[in-house]
Amino acid sequence: MPHFYVTTPIYYVNDAPHVGHAYATVNADAVARWHRQIGDEVLFLTGTDEHGQKVARAAEEHKMSPQAWADRLAPRFAETWAALDVANDDFIRTTEPRHHRAVQRFLQRIFDNGYIEPGSYAGWYCVGCEAYKDESELLPGRVCPDHRRPVEWLEQENYFFRLSAFQDRLLEWYRDHPHSVQPETKRNEALSFIKGGLQDISITRTSIDWGVPVPWDPNHVFYVWYDALVNYLTAIGYADGDDGVGEWWPSVHHLIGKEIIRFHCVWWPAMCMAAGIDPPAHVQVHGFLLVGGERLSKTRVAGGGERAVKLTEIAPTALVDDFGVDPIRYHLLREVPLGADGEFSYEGIVSRYNADLANNLGNLMSRVATVVGSKCGGTGPAPRLESRLAGVAAEVVASATAAWERFAPHDALETTWRLIRETNAELEAAEPWRAEPGPEVDGVLGDALQALQIVALLAAPAMPTTCAEVWRRIGLTGRPEDQRLPGAARWGTYPGGGAVEKAPPLFPRRSQ
Ligand SMILES: [Zn+2]
Repeated sequence: MPHFYVTTPIYYVNDAPHVGHAYATVNADAVARWHRQIGDEVLFLTGTDEHGQKVARAAEEHKMSPQAWADRLAPRFAETWAALDVANDDFIRTTEPRHHRAVQRFLQRIFDNGYIEPGSYAGWYCVGCEAYKDESELLPGRVCPDHRRPVEWLEQENYFFRLSAFQDRLLEWYRDHPHSVQPETKRNEALSFIKGGLQDISITRTSIDWGVPVPWDPNHVFYVWYDALVNYLTAIGYADGDDGVGEWWPSVHHLIGKEIIRFHCVWWPAMCMAAGIDPPAHVQVHGFLLVGGERLSKTRVAGGGERAVKLTEIAPTALVDDFGVDPIRYHLLREVPLGADGEFSYEGIVSRYNADLANNLGNLMSRVATVVGSKCGGTGPAPRLESRLAGVAAEVVASATAAWERFAPHDALETTWRLIRETNAELEAAEPWRAEPGPEVDGVLGDALQALQIVALLAAPAMPTTCAEVWRRIGLTGRPEDQRLPGAARWGTYPGGGAVEKAPPLFPRRSQ
């Protein structure tokens, strides 16, 4: 059975979960769900990054120990994922003993292989990035361009990872694995960074003690990024098994934001090489959601006036309370293609909800159930084997499958909605609600029910609850996510003869 291992970044517990986190996590979840439906053995990992200065400071500001702070924040991520119907197989916390063991084993191996050496380093450091910054990267006033706050001068006696030794090996690896970073523009970004020359990096700290102790020099803790990246190995048993890490590695898929390309596409593959294991097979990079529109982007402040809202201030659970879980999942998957930047706005959620969910899918479900009730006595007829829609469905299944395979939920859903639109158009042309009951009406409605069955299968990774409800309403047993694709989505599999249920709209229309 093919193995499919997909990861999100692990999220810093310095702040509460926000829509940016939800974007990455829901996309990874939907792709994982797709792979379960096609019968793959799936491991979907997410979790929290709990060490480092940023977390230690957040804890200090709240007069808590870092561990107590992490213990308070980590469940908020887990609860948010539950509220978004995210079905992760594992949730890793970097403060867990299994992770400490994996980090120590991994870095000891690199040390033993001669790629870690003592040295000293001084430079401008952004606590937000947990990274040293080159003077040329900074904005006037020595401000981090990502965090809009001043960097600090940090001087340390540290251990260094000999990243410079890997420049040629990384270039060679990328030449041999041209599709390992998607999209292509992000691969080029990683390549040009490597070609620009790699400097050794400081990987331990003595300035704080909130981290994984260095096994050969316990006055040091590992730098948080070095510790965090190893989570991908911890979860597959690196600490306790052999170094080969079994059938899950290296065929892993890391979904990451574009701000952490350097860590995942330069440092991480080099660290893997240094430890004697293969670099990850695939890094899928996503862009930024930009807050637009009025409703989300401004908030009233005490004393009158407004201020701009940041994406990091929008709680996914508030959106779920407002729209329901499946519409928010659908929006996060459909609106902004993975790899691009895109606008995220309240108005955008409402208009896509009305267009795609209320008017297209919801309307198709309602009219089919109504007409089966009035013309077929409530029993769903079987589809016609010769039907224009059969050809459309075959094309849609093929292109949706290809899109899910290439981490493009946006395209997968767009093509799935083509089947919904064409089915609605067939109904409007045939007008079965005006016709006398009989074989012609049965055929039209049987085709529409077959199309709904296929849509429920193809959209289940995006909207599991809605698709299960469509499945039930058209008289099928079980759940779409438990059917095996592609076989279950073949035209002619809708059996007919089941009770089709008329029920309230799946998606009542919304006003702005
Ligand atoms: Zn920064």
